[in-house]
Amino acid sequence: MARVVFNNVSKRFDDGTLALQHFSLSIQNGEMVVLVGPSGCGKSTVLRLLAGLEEVTAGEISINNRIVNHATPQQRNVAMVFQNYALYPHMSIRRNLEFPLRMAHIPMPAIREKVTAIADMLNLSELLERKPKQLSGGQRQRVAMGRALVRDPSVFLLDEPLSNLDAKLRAQIRADIAQLQKRLHKTTLYVTHDQVEAMTLGDRVAVMNAGSIQQVGTPDELYRQPHNIFVAKFIGNPGMNIIPSKVLNTGNEGVDLAIGTQVIRLSALSQPDDETIRKHIDREVHVGIRPEAFSILPEQNSVEIRIKTVAVEFLGHESLIYFNLREAGDSCPDIPLIARIAGKLEQPHGGDEMFYINPDSVYLFDRNGDIIR
Ligand code: ATP
Repeated sequence: MARVVFNNVSKRFDDGTLALQHFSLSIQNGEMVVLVGPSGCGKSTVLRLLAGLEEVTAGEISINNRIVNHATPQQRNVAMVFQNYALYPHMSIRRNLEFPLRMAHIPMPAIREKVTAIADMLNLSELLERKPKQLSGGQRQRVAMGRALVRDPSVFLLDEPLSNLDAKLRAQIRADIAQLQKRLHKTTLYVTHDQVEAMTLGDRVAVMNAGSIQQVGTPDELYRQPHNIFVAKFIGNPGMNIIPSKVLNTGNEGVDLAIGTQVIRLSALSQPDDETIRKHIDREVHVGIRPEAFSILPEQNSVEIRIKTVAVEFLGHESLIYFNLREAGDSCPDIPLIARIAGKLEQPHGGDEMFYINPDSVYLFDRNGDIIR
């Protein structure tokens, strides 16, 4: 068990690439934190720095209050599962699992005991005499996890471990990893670019962009209280719709927002003395609306908005409606927006119609993309 702290860590590679800047994050004992972000944002670099495969340029990394900046990978007792599993192809699964323990000169009877236990736990007992190429992708993935866990590391690192699996297997192994983590309660840092993995696996999720953290929080916090447009768009499937807008007015009646030629009034946001909104009057803002905040029938307090449907995708349990807010002679930019409606639409939507928005689900961001409320 271990507590991991990154304190103001930066990493610049020899060629000048600044992969991380001012990266601070703590992972509590037994906690699973997921790093999520687009390709190239620095996720793997964070793992490699913690594993001791790269050195920090500035800042400190500590494990259990001990600074490990200059410790060897062995001294850190950290185990990593790579995207490509990195199994030894010429060794049996048993040998692959034994390997880290043999390297640590553990006596053979103890090795056998540990390998039997980990194979049992990961459902690998029947496969021990096979070679990696005789296993399915999912089974190989479990061997890679077993090999990392067999020496009881204090920190467990996973770098996109599901990316080579098909969607169905990914969902199944995701559930296995969640269960394993609950059972072992190991301090885990998990890297993915897939927000669904992040939301389903993480006790907390750190959203990264361009070498720094945008927000850290529980999945629920990230979904409900995104700090900025980047997080709002990244979290959620599909992510939040962002529409350029202007605050026209705020008062007892509510907040009036201009979207193209339409004005929508959000009474739920109305607080006459609300300076946070008042100071944005006549200024450019961005309205954020989650796809699931739209409905095709009015509900109590809902706000109307005229839309133009472009396409509808029926997914069985729900429909995704692609639309925009353009009207004749409208200056509203042609931004593709998505609504997510439960079930199948009774009539195929096409052309101009009305949608309804739950005003509690409307977010406002300033021109820099930071949340106003
Ligand atoms: P992906 O999801 O594609 O794996 P990532 O978020 O894990 O991406 P990193 O692999 O951490 O991103 O890379 C972060 C940045 O550092 C990228 O711009 C990458 O090109 C750069 N980078 C990574 N390793 C090196 C290296 N050894 N030398 C120079 N630049 C590097």
